[in-house]
Amino acid sequence: MLNVVQSYSAMTLAPTLRSLPPLGETPSTVRRVIDYMRISITDRCNQRCLYCYSENFNSWSARKDLLTAPEIISVVRSAAELGVRHIRLTGGEPLMREDVLTLIKQLKTLPGIESVQLTTNGNRLTMMADDLYEAGLRRINISLDALNPSLYRAITRSDVTPVLDGIRRVKELGFESVKLNTVLMRGRNQHQLMSLVHFAAEYDIPIRFIELLPVSFSEMLDEQNFLSIGEVRAELARHDSLVPVTEFLGHGPATYYRLPEIGATVGFIGALTDLHFCDSCNKLRLTADGKLRPCLGNHIEYDLKPVLRPAIDPAAIRMELQTAIKGKPLEHLFRDHYQPKRIMTAIGG
Ligand code: SAM
Repeated sequence: MLNVVQSYSAMTLAPTLRSLPPLGETPSTVRRVIDYMRISITDRCNQRCLYCYSENFNSWSARKDLLTAPEIISVVRSAAELGVRHIRLTGGEPLMREDVLTLIKQLKTLPGIESVQLTTNGNRLTMMADDLYEAGLRRINISLDALNPSLYRAITRSDVTPVLDGIRRVKELGFESVKLNTVLMRGRNQHQLMSLVHFAAEYDIPIRFIELLPVSFSEMLDEQNFLSIGEVRAELARHDSLVPVTEFLGHGPATYYRLPEIGATVGFIGALTDLHFCDSCNKLRLTADGKLRPCLGNHIEYDLKPVLRPAIDPAAIRMELQTAIKGKPLEHLFRDHYQPKRIMTAIGG
């Protein structure tokens, strides 16, 4: 039995959170169009980020329980018929899956699918960037929590050099969209903020700062490590002005600003402190083991296995998708004593 760390979800809220009105005072009224699906193609990862895995984690899904490529394709085909236009492959580490290139190629040919994107930790990118480009991938997000090699290793338990080389390679190849993702934690990588922003500016890559979420069983998910995007913004404002970006930069929940002096574009993903975070949520998630999950911060899931095995039933898949879309909660429960039941890598980060 995995040991859920109680301190985070049962935490007395950080001062920044405590000063906000309680969840529910700003009900979402915006009509949300669900046109984006994030797919965890494996729950395995070749990094051990502190906030993602507990020290001794080894509860991987059995291979036979992971969706096969034909099963994933059939789910996406049905989803496209219902209006899904954008797919993001994630994990775990999606580049660990042997058929990732084939999957990308096949997903790109599906009627209705306008973009196939991928989120990676980047440590296989030097080897794989050219093949990914060749397979038709044009949009990629790369996680980068620190530039300092020893700090990067302390957070991810791996080497930053191949990640930086991989970032340079995707820029050389001319991917249409490259973005960096950073989970900033108080007292851990907080002081890397400005170096990361300058690095992003140097390579002309938007960088997004993500609030730590209670989505794993890691000991790190503690209030002491939580850093709100409000604080990150305030720190950035000491160095430059923050000019809201109006042009479209992606299908996700980030809000973007331009730092004109530094020449950087920064995004903020503040699921815990942004009260309007869910207003425009356009996502469905497909877990590595075949569950449709309409909201990361809510336990509701719809199991697709019975309509995929022993035989793929497209009409039944469509019905499950419709139910999941209808059942998408208006708001997540992260601020409401949320206790994760399984970790983000299985759900799809
Ligand atoms: N392995 C890939 C990667 O590292 O980008 C994709 C999966 S990973 C789960 C996707 C994103 O989720 C990463 O940017 C990671 O930093 C973020 N993430 C993981 N656990 C998190 C947590 N507890 N709070 C906030 N973000 C988290």
